[in-house]
Amino acid sequence: MTTLRELPSVGQLLRTQTAAELIARYGRPLTLTAIRFTLDETRARFKLDPQPALPSIDMILAQADSTLSAWTKPTLVPVINATGVILHTNLGRAPLSEATIHAMDIVSRGYSNLEYDLEKGVRGSRLLHAESVLQKLTGAESALVVNNNASAVLLVLSALANKKRVIISRSQLVEIGGGFRVPDVMKQSGAKLVEVGTTNKVRLSDYQSAAEDPTALIMHVHPSNFKVIGFTEEPELNELVDVAHKADLILVDDLGSGALLDTAKYGIAHEPTVQESLAAGADIVCFSGDKLLGGPQAGIIVGKKTLLDKIKRHPLARAVRADKVCLAGITATLLHYLKDDAEREIPIWKMMSLTPKQVKGRAEAWKDQLGQGNVVEGESTVGGGSLPGESSKTYLLSLEVKSPDKFLKKLRQQHPPIIARTEADKILLDPRTVLPEQEGALLVGLKNAL
Ligand SMILES: *Cc1c(COP(=O)(O)O)cnc(C)c1O
Repeated sequence: MTTLRELPSVGQLLRTQTAAELIARYGRPLTLTAIRFTLDETRARFKLDPQPALPSIDMILAQADSTLSAWTKPTLVPVINATGVILHTNLGRAPLSEATIHAMDIVSRGYSNLEYDLEKGVRGSRLLHAESVLQKLTGAESALVVNNNASAVLLVLSALANKKRVIISRSQLVEIGGGFRVPDVMKQSGAKLVEVGTTNKVRLSDYQSAAEDPTALIMHVHPSNFKVIGFTEEPELNELVDVAHKADLILVDDLGSGALLDTAKYGIAHEPTVQESLAAGADIVCFSGDKLLGGPQAGIIVGKKTLLDKIKRHPLARAVRADKVCLAGITATLLHYLKDDAEREIPIWKMMSLTPKQVKGRAEAWKDQLGQGNVVEGESTVGGGSLPGESSKTYLLSLEVKSPDKFLKKLRQQHPPIIARTEADKILLDPRTVLPEQEGALLVGLKNAL
């Protein structure tokens, strides 16, 4: 009868050539852990279900090898976005331009003048790098880049409205996704939210009467990811600015996606731009770096110098500061706008500017190479909490498969995984969001899955 005592020892396994190779690849401590783990599993399995033979040394090491491979495989990997949602928050929002990637690459490889003044040879400020580009681009007096827009809102309110009243319309108490709500973020700052108006209607007089009590600021939040239609009313930003300034209050505009270009050019609704918000008189404007700006994750705060100085000095500014890689990337992305080549160089604007005819050509090429499917009309969306309900005409490759859910799963198992969608039992793939350099891998993956 076989007993567990016949199982090879850890020492025996370690003396093999295979173990030496595993140690070279994965290091000794992890290999040892994996071998012990495999032996424990083998014992547990044997106790539950005794077999006539125990696994051989080779079998145990092969098992340890696959365990090590699974333990060390990166969990965060590139995917192919064939959903047609340009700023897909679950898929990492904006893909970056070549210049942005290059800028991030070179500063992360070595030392940089992050906080060093090369002219004077003394300590400098990390804030300068993006600030001068933001000033030129938006005309704002001052600017600050932080970790993301949620932290920008938190920082602005902490610095300017702690323990003070902040007036905000009920129509703007939004949830930005993942269960995070703007009012909750705002409350963390210690600000006292004074809600005015109703879900669908807020009037200038609502703000005016609330502003009669001592208040720090009026907060305006762009309804990024939803639309209120029908019986609605909302004052213009410049009117709100008037009310704020007459009562000696600051007006803060949380733009969310923060476009620097006019989205209306691409046949979708106009998303308020940073320049417009500043022109309307907002004292502080904050927005994300990885939504319609098309850069890396960041939060950008622009506005009046006196206010920005206060914000920059707040302790939280240190807690939410942007790192050198982000600063390099954001600055490189912003430079595209300054040099007026954003539409040519920033992937999300390239995707938005693709004409239906161009997308159709790509879908047809995919169809020809696969030898199956149909090219059908459809809609691409911007996503990422921008431009809700807006879509651009697109063409999709539609595939008929036996089990759509199983097929989607198979697509997710490809290298890189392919994310598609289904509609009426058809698999739909939108060329708009597939990066040109991923097309080869997409077709290999599709052929595999088919
Ligand atoms: C997306 C969004 C945020 C959060 O921005 P992150 O960069 O994701 O932190 C805040 N406010 C509004 C209005 C938004 O649309």
